[in-house]
Amino acid sequence: MTVPAADARSRVGDLPIEVVPTTAPLADAERARRMREPGFGRVFSEHMVTIRWTRADGWQDARLGPYGPLVLDPATVALHYGQSVFEGFKVYRGADGSVAAFRPEANAERFRASARRLCLPELPVAVFVEAVDLLVAHDHAWVPTTPGHTLYIRPLLFASEPELVVRPSEECLFVLTAFVAADYFPRGLTPVSVWVADEFVRAAPGGTGAAKCAANYAAGLAAQAAAAEQGCDQVVFLDAVERRWVEELGGMNLVFVRGGEHPTLVTPELTGTLLPGITRDSLITLARDLGLEVEERRISMEEWEADARSGAITEVFACGTAAVLTPVGRVRRGGAEWTIGDGGTGPVTTALRERLIAVQTGSAPDPHGWRREIAPIATG
Ligand SMILES: *Cc1c(COP(=O)(O)O)cnc(C)c1O
Repeated sequence: MTVPAADARSRVGDLPIEVVPTTAPLADAERARRMREPGFGRVFSEHMVTIRWTRADGWQDARLGPYGPLVLDPATVALHYGQSVFEGFKVYRGADGSVAAFRPEANAERFRASARRLCLPELPVAVFVEAVDLLVAHDHAWVPTTPGHTLYIRPLLFASEPELVVRPSEECLFVLTAFVAADYFPRGLTPVSVWVADEFVRAAPGGTGAAKCAANYAAGLAAQAAAAEQGCDQVVFLDAVERRWVEELGGMNLVFVRGGEHPTLVTPELTGTLLPGITRDSLITLARDLGLEVEERRISMEEWEADARSGAITEVFACGTAAVLTPVGRVRRGGAEWTIGDGGTGPVTTALRERLIAVQTGSAPDPHGWRREIAPIATG
């Protein structure tokens, strides 16, 4: 799908938008310098979109303008009570130079679901997706050509009302920014080690585990720090009730591979306490397309340990937008430690990763219509 050049549009969805590009664009050389070693979430593109919402008048004041600081009252609700949700997905440059967002509609839907759980207003899908089109059209030159580097899109919606009574905010602000992202794990496909958190819980039944909200990330930081103290890269969260069932990492879903002649993928089912990852969903679809069996069900820690030790589980990987697919090589729980396979990167992980990246970058067919191609604004 190709989107018409966005400068022709004065609307996003059915909202009018004011388009006021920067009057001091960066020189090509300076942009290239900044993009060289982008890290993650540090090198932002030159524009952003903001849209206000009030309970009385709904969505309003949509604007594309230069990237820059927000001015917030100290009483801004989100800063105190965490009423804030976000999204994350990537824009990829294809081998032919084309630029495409990967499944932005799915992120738009999830953004609405997260907002609903946090009593925030639901931004219409068309407004979300067309705001992305507009931003990427203006900041087209920020989509990297370096393999593995991407333009990461960060939509944010937070309670902006400056009044600290505890109730759903009467005013909100949507902010859409984009930054250049290097591979999230700089070591690439080097397997990570994971530490199983028995004392920390990420999400409980009835809680906010399925929403992509700021508070979930804050709540996971102490567990992540504990994992690092144990010499592990990432933390695995278990279910809150029995502390027995594998849920996910702090920001990635988990997939288990039962190897053999006909490998089967097993991934924890979406119980309401897991974040429904779009990478997870894409991989389930791609794996089935490739003829692999996929099971969504509960997986206990006993199954993980015993079957990894016996060799029945041959590979485990984590998946999410930032890191795509990352192999898990070593697992630690209390005093126990075990490796997955030979501790390296297995063939199913490698094949699925290559396949997904090929679809994302347009070098493999896209039968599910996941790439949304975006043209640059016409310059003249
Ligand atoms: C964002 C996120 C994921 C991955 O979702 P993707 O859509 O694949 O990027 C997984 N788990 C958590 C907790 C997340 O916040």
